[in-house]
Amino acid sequence: MTSPPRLYLSPPHMGTREQALVGEAFASNWIAPIGPMIDLFEAKLAELTGIGHVVALSSGTAALHLALRLSGIGPGDVVWGSTMTFIGGVAPILYMGAAPLFLDIERDGFLLDLDLLEEALETRADKPKVVITTDLYGHVVDAVRVRALADRFGFIWISDAAEAVGAYRDGVHAGKGADFTILSFNGNKIITTSGGGALASENGEAIARARFLSTQAREPAAHYEHETYGYNYRLSNVCAAIGVGQLEVLADRVAARRAIFAAYRSSLGDMPGVAFVGEPAGMAANRWLTTITIDPAEAGFDREEAQAALERENIESRPLWKPMHLQPLFRDAACIAGGVAERMFERGLCLPSGSAMDEADVARVCAILARQAG
Ligand SMILES: *Cc1c(COP(=O)(O)O)cnc(C)c1O
Repeated sequence: MTSPPRLYLSPPHMGTREQALVGEAFASNWIAPIGPMIDLFEAKLAELTGIGHVVALSSGTAALHLALRLSGIGPGDVVWGSTMTFIGGVAPILYMGAAPLFLDIERDGFLLDLDLLEEALETRADKPKVVITTDLYGHVVDAVRVRALADRFGFIWISDAAEAVGAYRDGVHAGKGADFTILSFNGNKIITTSGGGALASENGEAIARARFLSTQAREPAAHYEHETYGYNYRLSNVCAAIGVGQLEVLADRVAARRAIFAAYRSSLGDMPGVAFVGEPAGMAANRWLTTITIDPAEAGFDREEAQAALERENIESRPLWKPMHLQPLFRDAACIAGGVAERMFERGLCLPSGSAMDEADVARVCAILARQAG
């Protein structure tokens, strides 16, 4: 008997036009980090997000680095953000020589606890220059409330919407309303350019500066004059062509991920000890990854056992992001956490959620988990 093909967590899912668009890039010989596909990709991202200005970059991590550089932070500054995130949404704080302060996530959710944030802003003497919110697993933070806090306390709000392309709250795309918004098109995200990212802002001058810094900060002189240093962070025109094609199918990809979430929930929702994170009113999450939490006392099995059982059947699954304050790297970092993220991490499992999955794939995963429950 041949074993079934491996079911991945979130593999790339190309539409019908990407290859032809890459072909166009080749035919025009724009095989460089400059060209018409980049311009088109940026214009389409601005249209999608409703944010005025966008620069396409080599990664979401690069976008965050540029946002922090433009925020003017450095050694001695503290950047606040959610403890529950991916390292790419944090490491650029260290690139700038600044330090992070990690805050817990909300109960029954994935997002930065805004009550906790507000309380900390009111009570702590060391106010942050920058706060990063993270739209985890395609859930979208309450932008009206964060904007009001940013205006009241005078911090720069960076929205890490790397996982939330195509996600909305109250009809507004993830990241709109922030001072800077980070998007990612890494290979595992809901749409991909194979590797890539973008920085968006309503501040056109800031995006022009980001574009300048992303191309080695070359002053306009034939011999390349340098008043400051930059980075080589621009997206390739070839990769941008993939992105243009992927944006055409984004709505389908979101619908597929949401359907996969619904199928998992209808199959596993009644299993004792297994829980899903719901959407608050007004949120249209993209459900990038379906996650469950497993309470071992009620379920009769734990997260590790579930992951191992899936792996034995050639199915990839993964714990939720390990909170940053539990990472050896951040042993000494400041943290305001009440154990919510820790519990989510201990019990949480991300299930295969690729938009090309069919009902049989979801059923295969659910059957294995049902067997664990005995
Ligand atoms: C993927 C991701 C990033 C980084 O994006 P890359 O394009 O992989 O560099 C940042 N933050 C979060 C929350 C992410 O999931």
